[in-house]
Parts: sequence; structure tokens; C-alpha cells
Amino acid sequence: MVKIKQVKTKNIFSKTSFRGYSYVINPYTGCASGCIYCHACFIQNFTNHQNELWGDFVDVKRWDGVVRTKRTVVGRNMLMSTITDPYNPVEEKYENTKQILERLREIGCNLTVCTRSDLVLRDIKILKEMNARVCMSVNSFDEIFVRQTEPKTTPIEKRLKALKELHKKGIYTILSISPIFPYITDFEEIVEKTRDYVDEYWFENLNLRQPYKLNVLNYIYLYYPELDKKYTDIYIKKDPQYWFFLRHKIIKYCRKHKLTYKIDFRYS
Ligand code: SF4
Repeated sequence: MVKIKQVKTKNIFSKTSFRGYSYVINPYTGCASGCIYCHACFIQNFTNHQNELWGDFVDVKRWDGVVRTKRTVVGRNMLMSTITDPYNPVEEKYENTKQILERLREIGCNLTVCTRSDLVLRDIKILKEMNARVCMSVNSFDEIFVRQTEPKTTPIEKRLKALKELHKKGIYTILSISPIFPYITDFEEIVEKTRDYVDEYWFENLNLRQPYKLNVLNYIYLYYPELDKKYTDIYIKKDPQYWFFLRHKIIKYCRKHKLTYKIDFRYS
């Protein structure tokens, strides 16, 4: 059962260092999708949710829609979202993302919406009017793996169907292959199956930090014991070789197939 609280916020925009973007918009604090690898769980330490489990709480950030410094946001590149999914399961009832989009449409900004949900199709009209771009994340076609690591996200086939529909409606589509699980995510397979309706690919590696690092390594130990040593090399011994080779392989592949792409690999 997800604990939901509605909170008022005066400012929905936060500055970001994410390449190519000035601000991020997070309609929620927390995310009911509860992915085991979610880097956003750090937010618990800053929002009075220290004693709750990631995925078990969501604060709905109600925004009054007033932009006090209009000059700073109009025409800027905005990303929605980085530490929640704007279409996580709570959005269906609360429609907070939809309300924010309606206000952003009046203000005018260059928006990219990132999600793992086909609920984004509900807002296709607004997104089209805003000339927004939509980024869908997928890291495997193995639905068993996806259910185990992302318990409440939309099934992969539905995500791909949604992306296809968005593309058909003339919306710029991005497929984020994220997070790339070493030796599990097959980026070539994903690109080959989706090229007809994807305008751009993003590649993001699985970067494990505390407190979720041990959960993910335990998951690998239990379900992919043959990969345990390889994950130990990457995440405990911090050997970066795997990522160096993969980056090289991705660049070579994308150039060969003339793909528009962005790689965001981080190690910690
Ligand atoms: S959908 Fe995104 S924000 Fe939500 S738990 Fe999963 S990775 Fe985190």
C-alpha cells in the first residue's frame, strides 16, 4: 500500500547539470514504481521519508502554476523527470503531471518527458501541442527480469506500443536503454526491434550506490549466479573495463547505423 500525501510547492523547477537541459520538473517526491535499482531513493534522506521503503510513499507536489521568474524558464530545455516517473502508478488517479503540463503549455518551454509507462498516451494531445519529446526507458525484453527489478512499471510490449503510437502522431521519440545491466541488457537487440519508430537513443549504465547497491548485487547473486563474479569485478573491485568496451561498441554501432544517440555512463 503506497502512502500518499499532497504537498503544496511554489516552485516546480530545479536546476540541473543533466547535459543539454537547464531545469528538471519532478511532479512527485518518491515513485510508486519501486524499481530496485532506482538512484532517486537518496531523496528519502532529505524529505522525512528515511524510515520508509522506496516505492511505499509518494508526495504529490501541487504547484500553483505561477512562474515567478518567467525569463529563466521560457524557451529553456526542461526535463521531466529525474527523480520520479511522472506517469508512475499514482498519476492515474491524481493527474498531477497532467495539470503541470497544462500550465507549462501556457508558459512555453522545450520539454522532454521521461517515463516507463504507457499512461503518457493519455496526454498525447497536450504533448503534441507543446511540441514535447517523449523518452521511454527499456533495458530488456525479458519480462521476468523486468518484473523482478521494476515491480510496478508498464510491461515492455505496452511501452513499445506507446512509443510507436507517439511516433505515429508526430511526437519526437527517444528510447533510453537504461539502466544497462552488464551482461543482461542487449542494446543491439533493443535497437534492432525499435529503429522504425525511435528518433534518438540514450544509453545509461547501471551505477550502483548505497543504499540500493547491496539489493541489486543480492538480486544478481540469487537469479544470475553465473554473473556474480563479473558484477563483483565491476561494482566491488570497480574495474571500469566493461564500460570502456561497451562505450566503444555503442559508438561504433551507432555510427555504423547512423543513429542519433547520447551516452551517459557514470561510475561511483
Ligand atoms: S520508474 Fe524511474 S523513478 Fe520510478 S522507481 Fe523506477 S527508476 Fe525510479
